[in-house]
Amino acid sequence: MDIDIAIVGAGAAGIGAARRLSGSGLKVTMIEAAPRIGGRAWTLDIAGIPLDMGCAWLHSASRNVWTGLAETAGVKIDRKPSGWAVQYQDLGFTPAEQREASASFERWTETLLTAPPASDIAAEALEPGNEWNNHIRTKVGYISGGVLEEMSAKDYATYEAASTDENWRLPGGYGALITSHLPEGTRLRLSTPVQSISLTGGGAALETSAGTLRAKAVILTVSTAMLAGETIKLPAGLAPWREAAANLPLGRDEKAILEVVKNGPFAPETHLFGNPRDLKSVSYNIRPMGYPTIECYLGNDSAAIVAEEGPAAAFAHAIDGLTRLFGAQARDCVRPLITTGWTRTTHIGGSYSYAKPGQAGARRTLARPFENRLFFAGEATSPLDYTTAHGAYESGMRAAGEALATLRPQPSL
Ligand SMILES: Cc1cc2nc3c(=O)[nH]c(=O)nc-3n(C[C@H](O)[C@H](O)[C@H](O)COP(=O)(O)OP(=O)(O)OC[C@H]3O[C@@H](n4cnc5c(N)ncnc54)[C@H](O)[C@@H]3O)c2cc1C
Repeated sequence: MDIDIAIVGAGAAGIGAARRLSGSGLKVTMIEAAPRIGGRAWTLDIAGIPLDMGCAWLHSASRNVWTGLAETAGVKIDRKPSGWAVQYQDLGFTPAEQREASASFERWTETLLTAPPASDIAAEALEPGNEWNNHIRTKVGYISGGVLEEMSAKDYATYEAASTDENWRLPGGYGALITSHLPEGTRLRLSTPVQSISLTGGGAALETSAGTLRAKAVILTVSTAMLAGETIKLPAGLAPWREAAANLPLGRDEKAILEVVKNGPFAPETHLFGNPRDLKSVSYNIRPMGYPTIECYLGNDSAAIVAEEGPAAAFAHAIDGLTRLFGAQARDCVRPLITTGWTRTTHIGGSYSYAKPGQAGARRTLARPFENRLFFAGEATSPLDYTTAHGAYESGMRAAGEALATLRPQPSL
């Protein structure tokens, strides 16, 4: 056997697993398809601005494991409440409309929690004819990346009930915090996609682009899109795991980041919905944390613009939304900086997982070990904090604990 444990994937879950195994004395190797670690946790430094392309918010911040890790590392946390619920100067969205729209959203959420539809289809909790249904759909697009007709009411409600609704930020970048927590000395192979995993006598063989690696146990942290797809050939016995992954598809969420080149009408730390009645509406965070940027959040229908028409179309859409609210002058005050492209990123394939109707239990199925040799982690396997970087991290810790217990059984008394 070459090693004890192979960790496939160096995202938040892989880093959680590596930290749990650090100091165990076991020989561990982390194998990552991309040329960088972090996966969906990625802070890109452009023009001195740390831009979070993936996770950016410490959700459920007071009980988020990364909050404690940031504090211990002396990393600055911005604890200001998010401005998501506030429409800057009520532009394009009167106070009365804002009240009705948020009351409609709250009623929809309450229905999911207290009187969920028997079909488990989240769309069936919408009030027929409510004029804010598009707004609810668009907001869920930012939160879950999915379409309500294809989404489990129970899965959405379970996350919602567990969330503390505190959302803090890291001026130095969430991705940077996460990648800085890979334990020193971790054996890491970058740019090495795992092509197949098969069980062998005492463990597993991993075929990679750089040859075969034999391990006693494997911790798989790849996204559900990868597990359900064809990029890794897995043992036939894993069909139920692959089916669970297919029932937990990744949503579509992208960001387009604009640079503010003239302050013009843009007040720092403000928020706007582009057009609260439009399914393709963009949610704008203006000059967050003092940076000269506008983060344009594109959920589901608007995220599709990036995948289907490309970054230039996404920028045009985001800037049109701003000029609609601020007038033509807004156009001269911004310039495109970068968009994400998660849906088309080869080894990820989307933003984060939601469950199909009737499939909330797929998360538990996916988290089960297979033959005491393959262990599963990743945001989609978190019992309550799926979709998040802290849920991913804790799932990696959990899977590594399971692998440790198998390789080092406790003596019975
Ligand atoms: C736009 C966007 C915004 C988000 N915002 C937030 C937020 O504000 N707060 C929050 O908590 N979360 C947010 N998230 C979600 C969060 O980023 C993820 O839930 C989390 O980072 C997932 O970590 P993971 O380790 O489970 O998966 P990943 O990060 O996907 O890690 C899996 C790794 O496996 C690698 N891999 C895949 N296939 C192979 C292979 N065959 N061989 C080897 N390696 C392979 C991938 O390259 C990847 O690096 C956001 C995500 C996106 C996309």
